[in-house]
Amino acid sequence: MSSRRRFLKKAAIGTVGITTVFNCDQSSKTNKTPLATVTSPKKPLIISTWRHGLAANEEAWRQLKKGTSALNAIVSGVGISEADPNVASVGYGGLPDREGKVTLDACIMNHHSDCGAVSFLQSIKHPIAVAQKVLENTPHVMLTGKGALQFALSEGFKEENLLTEKAEKRWRKWLEDSKYKPVINIENHDTISMLVLDKEGNLSGGCTTSGAAWKMHGRVGDSPIIGAGLFLDNEVGAAAATGLGEAVVRTAGSAMVVELMRQGKSPNEACKEITERIYNKHKNHKDMEYLQVGFIAVNKQGEHGGYSVRPGFNYAVFDDEKGNRMEKAASKL
Ligand code: ASP
Repeated sequence: MSSRRRFLKKAAIGTVGITTVFNCDQSSKTNKTPLATVTSPKKPLIISTWRHGLAANEEAWRQLKKGTSALNAIVSGVGISEADPNVASVGYGGLPDREGKVTLDACIMNHHSDCGAVSFLQSIKHPIAVAQKVLENTPHVMLTGKGALQFALSEGFKEENLLTEKAEKRWRKWLEDSKYKPVINIENHDTISMLVLDKEGNLSGGCTTSGAAWKMHGRVGDSPIIGAGLFLDNEVGAAAATGLGEAVVRTAGSAMVVELMRQGKSPNEACKEITERIYNKHKNHKDMEYLQVGFIAVNKQGEHGGYSVRPGFNYAVFDDEKGNRMEKAASKL
């Protein structure tokens, strides 16, 4: 194979999005002129963690197709999980901390790297919408606890009781022996993280959760932390996490996945490498017993991937080509 053909093949491998084929003059390897640009059939593209991602994708897709901005589509999409009392790990109906309080974490990020987050927020059903207001209407990136609530109220959000009867019953049952032992893949719907590649090819993302059930009052996980639960760089790709937040914070998980994509790894390879790093770091750790971490990622070309420590993690994908469906993530164990 001539070196020029080898170059063309390499340029096209693994790219299902915009594929720019370069004419590489052999006498000058740095002199590259584009020959053709193939527009991606994969834009827009939405990926979301877990099975409840299907309903969230559905709503976000509807919004995108109406011409709504990606950020608003994310807020509406993951808002479906936040409002669903049957989703025991996000928003309304989320399992409480050990004091019986539902406390919420969320963050959102756009293609300019602007971000907003809330942590340890109580009594507001849609923390992702408050995170968006932090991004848009404050000079800060994160508000927490009472300050976040005060801000939400000033923005017109209403206080509500988020502890459903069902969640309260489970909490009372837990109180009987009060053992803290996070459940792996909690009913297949932990944190919802959503990543969007919009029709212009810009990336954005959001994630929202009620965090680990029976956590200490005041505990904040990875989900509102940019770089841990969510990260994107519009030049490269986007990544988001679910699972044991402490493990993701210790390793700056999502930021690392994006960084590996910058170095040329596919979303799948990047998720796998960081998941394995997390696994290796926790081999002799007290958290290993219930360590589950899963990542999803998408790059600028519309390739996507996912990987987790233990089996059971999956994510929902929506594109024009194949519609809304579940993808099973491979796992380390
Ligand atoms: N990552 C979330 C947290 O640690 C929970 C989860 O995704 O299961 O708060």
